Amino acid sequence: MVICDGVCLAPKTPNGWPADQPKPRWVQMLWHGEMICNSVERTDWTTNPVELVLCEVCGCVGCGGGYAHVSQWASLITLTRPQSNRGESTSRDERDASSMLREHRALGIPSASWEEWRAEGFKLPALGQLSRGTGRTLADLWLSTLPASLHCKDLAAIEPMLCERLVASETMDVASATQRVLRLAAWLQSIADDPVEGTIRLATETGIAVEALYLDGPTVEEWPALGVLGEMTTLMLSPNYTFCRP
Ligand SMILES: [Zn+2]
Repeated sequence: MVICDGVCLAPKTPNGWPADQPKPRWVQMLWHGEMICNSVERTDWTTNPVELVLCEVCGCVGCGGGYAHVSQWASLITLTRPQSNRGESTSRDERDASSMLREHRALGIPSASWEEWRAEGFKLPALGQLSRGTGRTLADLWLSTLPASLHCKDLAAIEPMLCERLVASETMDVASATQRVLRLAAWLQSIADDPVEGTIRLATETGIAVEALYLDGPTVEEWPALGVLGEMTTLMLSPNYTFCRP
């Protein structure tokens, strides 16, 4: 997951709007010049999958593309690949993910920015109206920390990948690191559709140490997979952010 510090809203005129019709004024969400959403006030943020990129010719919902699964946690709103579980209004898969999401795999928008935009008068739903993160959301956030070259896109692919490639772990032996990763993967599978209690925090604020795994391949790749505090092991969701159970 990439944390979008410095994310902002800016006016937007849709490209491709018919010349004979008055051009609407949209509000886009940008992060360092990259567009996360082209019309934040027209987007329905409360029903997954969320269509982040509306068609700029007609502005109709469902005509554009660029979807994400949007979840709210205490300090972050996370954008992960569209999910196709039963709770979704429409089945979407990875091909429908917004281009920004395909590139970065998972994004974290600070909840504080969202609250500021609401306070400034932008028409956005209250944080509590967004979906709660589930085990599947957490799994997608965790998988986004894997080196992209491994193409490891679901939890079931982790075990064969570790058997084949894991050569070392930062402070523990390979067997112990494998066991901890597989235990977390099994836990995530068991709670896939359940809302998760917990927060996403900077590891440095929690005392949790990052345990990197080293994966062999054409080059040795580093996976900051685990957060460790004594006997407790948790998920790293970016090189710096960790999942904290209550
Ligand atoms: Zn259209």
